[in-house]
Amino acid sequence: MRIMENIRNMGFIAHIDAGKTTVTERVLFASGRTYKLGSVDDGNTVMDWMDQERERGITITAAAATTYWRDCQINIIDTPGHVDFTAEVERSLRVLDGGVVVFDAVAGVQPQSETVWRQADRYHVPRICFVNKMDRVGANFARTLDMIRTRLKGNPVPIQLPMGTDATFKGVIDLLEQKALVFPQNNNNQNILPQEAPIPAEYQAETEIYRTSMIEKIAETDDALTTKYLEGETITLEELRAALRKATIANLIVPVVCGSALRYWGIHPLLDAITYYLPSPLDVPPAKGMDVKTGAPLERPASKDAPFSALAFKVVTDAYTGRMVYFRVYSGVAKSGMNVYNSTKVGRERMGRMMRMIANRREDLEELGAGDIGATVGLKNTFTGDTLCDEGAPVLLESIKFPQPVISVAVEPKSRGDQEKLGDALSKLSEEDPTFIRHFDEETGQTIVAGMGELHLEVLMERLRREFGLQVNQGRPKVAYREAITQRARAEGRFIRQSGGRGQYGDVWVEIEPAERGAGFIFENKIVGGAIPKEYIPGVEAGAKSALENGVVAGYQVIDVKVILTDGSYHEVDSSEMAFRAAGSIGVKEAMRRAKPVLLEPVMLVEVISPSEFLGEILGDLNGRRAQIKNMEAQASTQVITADVPLAQMFGYATDLRSLTQGRASYTMEFGHYAEVPPQLAADVAKKS
Ligand code: GDP
Repeated sequence: MRIMENIRNMGFIAHIDAGKTTVTERVLFASGRTYKLGSVDDGNTVMDWMDQERERGITITAAAATTYWRDCQINIIDTPGHVDFTAEVERSLRVLDGGVVVFDAVAGVQPQSETVWRQADRYHVPRICFVNKMDRVGANFARTLDMIRTRLKGNPVPIQLPMGTDATFKGVIDLLEQKALVFPQNNNNQNILPQEAPIPAEYQAETEIYRTSMIEKIAETDDALTTKYLEGETITLEELRAALRKATIANLIVPVVCGSALRYWGIHPLLDAITYYLPSPLDVPPAKGMDVKTGAPLERPASKDAPFSALAFKVVTDAYTGRMVYFRVYSGVAKSGMNVYNSTKVGRERMGRMMRMIANRREDLEELGAGDIGATVGLKNTFTGDTLCDEGAPVLLESIKFPQPVISVAVEPKSRGDQEKLGDALSKLSEEDPTFIRHFDEETGQTIVAGMGELHLEVLMERLRREFGLQVNQGRPKVAYREAITQRARAEGRFIRQSGGRGQYGDVWVEIEPAERGAGFIFENKIVGGAIPKEYIPGVEAGAKSALENGVVAGYQVIDVKVILTDGSYHEVDSSEMAFRAAGSIGVKEAMRRAKPVLLEPVMLVEVISPSEFLGEILGDLNGRRAQIKNMEAQASTQVITADVPLAQMFGYATDLRSLTQGRASYTMEFGHYAEVPPQLAADVAKKS
């Protein structure tokens, strides 16, 4: 096992197309662990495991791969660039300690980079920036820095200065070590170390300016260095590095380097920067969790001597090894074959073989210490977000939050005989991806799958075909509407049957009121003086909950409601939990009718990027989709339009946008919030459901 100071758990974070896959590839290769050089353009990279990802060129799953550079072990957690997979981004940010944000030097900060940057801010992920594609025409290092400052509100500190741009880009000046690193010109995209050289005369002046500014910015973050700086004393390289490391980890500074991943330029210095400035597991706060029994907050320090705790962050079903769980050990040591306690599912499990993914091969592990990341087979009941721990010292680590699916579609196998196979395949897929949910609709006899967007479901349907050999028919995608109440209401629910034999008697008075967004279902029992005996209360709660599954407007799930049980009566002989369950459900249904219920729809945050000449058409079309335009921004000759658009209006948008703009615009969308459907449209939805 490596010592923990030398572990870096990091991910490359980027907007799609910035070059994340290429950078990851090069990093794995430069550090000597990939055997064959892959290139995204031939669809042959190491990190994109799945066939169709290769085709689409998007990295969907968060696999983890390990590599070694100098005395460090770098665990690269793969993060997706596509925002339809935000849950994947969140999940990876949860287990990594630091990130490298990759920018395209021509496009600079793209709108989607803002989304991922904000997510990284939310999780306090320390960052380095890599300005990629410096070889492209129109590459602009200074402008990208500016955009990081203004758009992302970051504090970028370049620690390199590029020598030349696009066709003349030939190397970088290391501002800390004060030397030039010249890239091999005819390297044929091969892994060759840059040549060290003195700083060329023509760059002396510029280097001086950049270096002074860098030293000032680093010194500002450290009192001792500020004093030294003000008194004109020399600050050593080691002092600068240590202070820069501290400031990066504290999220005060983002060191910036640059290069061209495609040409292999700048990859080695980037690896150096990862080891110098990104945190080790010891540099980040201890993992937070709670006591399983009391709910009291608990911490688990990154230490091999502490009791074992780990978080499962990805489940993958692999053709060779079967069900594989990726996990990060936060404290203690995991050993292959050891018994563990799943405190989320409240059950014992046994770890099977443990392994590490080293790019394209696996390495078996006997043990895995605190701060490290690996995968294991043999865990049957452990899912994404679950805590694994020592049964003697149980802890429940903070889980990963996943958004609710917003779109659903009915699926059926093309051949009747495949029904069971489809069920198995869907349950495997939803095990891997908690934002993909499936259920069986008893009323219609259909299998319904739900996810985060059209692309999300498309990708999953494609996997059914490829990985499971299943041909499926699918219905039209449907919006996952929700319902909510808008005012307080009170109602009685009586369930009384007294004709012959033993009767049924349940009688309740319930009050319901809107709860804040995201609160879900809250139940409060205010019965005093035994109007309803205690043993029947859970029945009332269960009945109330089931009533909320199908709202009174159009039968959709009712969210964010508080149900208060205030009064009722019972019968010595005829009452039962069942009867109270029915009464609870009747009472809540009736109260909902009186509580001004409304229909809610998912509203998406849509970003369209288009050449300016199509602005008029795009806006006109968006208006027809009940869009609220939030922002318009011109960047050179392109326009970036941000709007809130109801998901119901976004079906087929990809095709419509293509024909409006001759295929020259692109868009992305992610779930924003739930909002009330205008009454007229709500009536239509209700009629159809
Ligand atoms: P991702 O979507 O962020 O993973 O980006 P990819 O790694 O798939 O790269 C997107 C495209 O940019 C591919 O066609 C790459 O060959 C190209 N690319 C990546 N890095 C560079 C670079 O440094 N210079 C140039 N000119 N092209 C690059």
